[in-house]
Amino acid sequence: MNAHLVQLIQIAKLDKDIEALEPLIKAKRADLNKALATRQKKQAEYTLLEEEKASLHLQIQKNEQALHETNAKVDGIQKKISQVKSERELRSLGIEEDITKERANQANKEIERLQNESAHKSKLQEELQSTLESLTQEIAALEEKVEADTAQIKEKQQAIFQEKQDLTLKMDHKLIAFYEKIRRWAGNTCVVSVKKQACGGCFIRINDRTYAEVLSSSDILTCPHCGRILYIDTAQSA
Ligand SMILES: [Zn+2]
Repeated sequence: MNAHLVQLIQIAKLDKDIEALEPLIKAKRADLNKALATRQKKQAEYTLLEEEKASLHLQIQKNEQALHETNAKVDGIQKKISQVKSERELRSLGIEEDITKERANQANKEIERLQNESAHKSKLQEELQSTLESLTQEIAALEEKVEADTAQIKEKQQAIFQEKQDLTLKMDHKLIAFYEKIRRWAGNTCVVSVKKQACGGCFIRINDRTYAEVLSSSDILTCPHCGRILYIDTAQSA
């Protein structure tokens, strides 16, 4: 077999081995990722409460301003009442005073309602804060565990990486680039064996002429249908 092709098959196998370890690492990280996602969600909830409180605070300020103005108006009316002589005018000012006082009363009620709402949100934040603190502790513990659990897998992965690195250095630069380009879309099936005269990647039958070329050629050949690099697995096709 073509020496370059042998190298490509080796590289493809190493890449496959590296990738095969990924799910193992992912599985070890599952609990940690879940805790991290929960913390992010809780943090977002906390921030949202903070924003809602800021908006409540603005509403309280607006109502306080209105209350201030209304109180001033009541003062003005009371001053007028002390000065008027006519019964009719007195009655009309009395009505105006009642309406204005009622408005002040409403504003006071609204302020109280808004403050209660804000206090409720603060309480929710306190609860969230304690949840966040315990989550952070949990995450630290999980991180330590994941670190320990995956150290061996990562070591193994690193060794394969190194092996790939060493092999890559010995290989033709253009060939590696060609391989990586196919790998980008074909992933682990970028170098495939031909089985029963069909491409091992797309499973489409290869015509006799191409098949004969793959069998005999010393060139690197790709599947005419999908573009994957083809080889004859002598151990299996025999
Ligand atoms: Zn194919």
